[in-house]
Amino acid sequence: MNNTGFTFSRVRDQMIQLLLEMGIKDFRVLDAMSQVPRHIFLDRALWSRAYENRALSIGYKQTISQPYIVAKMTQYLISHTSKRGKVFDRILEIGSGCGYQSAVLSYFAKEVFAVERIKPLVIKSRENLRELKLRNISVKHADGYEGWGVSEKFDGIICAAAPKEYPEDLLEFLEVGGKLVIPVGFENKQKLFVITKASKAEYKEEIYEDVAFVPMLSGTSNGEIK
Ligand code: SAH
Repeated sequence: MNNTGFTFSRVRDQMIQLLLEMGIKDFRVLDAMSQVPRHIFLDRALWSRAYENRALSIGYKQTISQPYIVAKMTQYLISHTSKRGKVFDRILEIGSGCGYQSAVLSYFAKEVFAVERIKPLVIKSRENLRELKLRNISVKHADGYEGWGVSEKFDGIICAAAPKEYPEDLLEFLEVGGKLVIPVGFENKQKLFVITKASKAEYKEEIYEDVAFVPMLSGTSNGEIK
């Protein structure tokens, strides 16, 4: 088995086929996901299951998101664009975990800014992304409730952990026209929210499917418990 992902191309194609059957229609998303080797983001013991449509453990009580959810969230984020390639300058990702979603997002923006609160996952994701030679992603050890920490704006924001209510402060970091895609709710009562910044002061809120994300916690952690 080599590390390039070449040996996994058949199961990866099957995963893409399944996403298509499940209703992911944006070929830009399917194309990006067909290029990202998901097994690289997992422990070797999980490689044989890396292309199943399920969340899998990445340690520290966290998971790599289910491929369908990664696809769906990315599809919502770019839904108001139609060009191919890098449709955005800058995307903010909150809760980057092992870096899988960051890798997918790197196909859609000149720069991806990823925030993760658990330090060993920050280190691991940087290694994973370096291995794939994806150089337009910066991963920062920080609390995503504070955005990227400086008052810079983003063309889109994706959050992979669920707050009980969506943090309105995050909308400050969005450019007009951009979307915040975020799961909101408690334990098994979460829904996927898509909030569009229609103008400086107006927002459009859409609520989609039921989802199951890990909770969005405040503060940072050094990851004492694996
Ligand atoms: N995007 C990942 C999913 C990781 S799971 C993927 O591609 O698979 C969600 C992650 O959100 C966890 O790693 C968790 O530590 C992180 N998280 C939770 N609350 C956070 C916060 N306030 N700031 C930053 N990261 C947070």
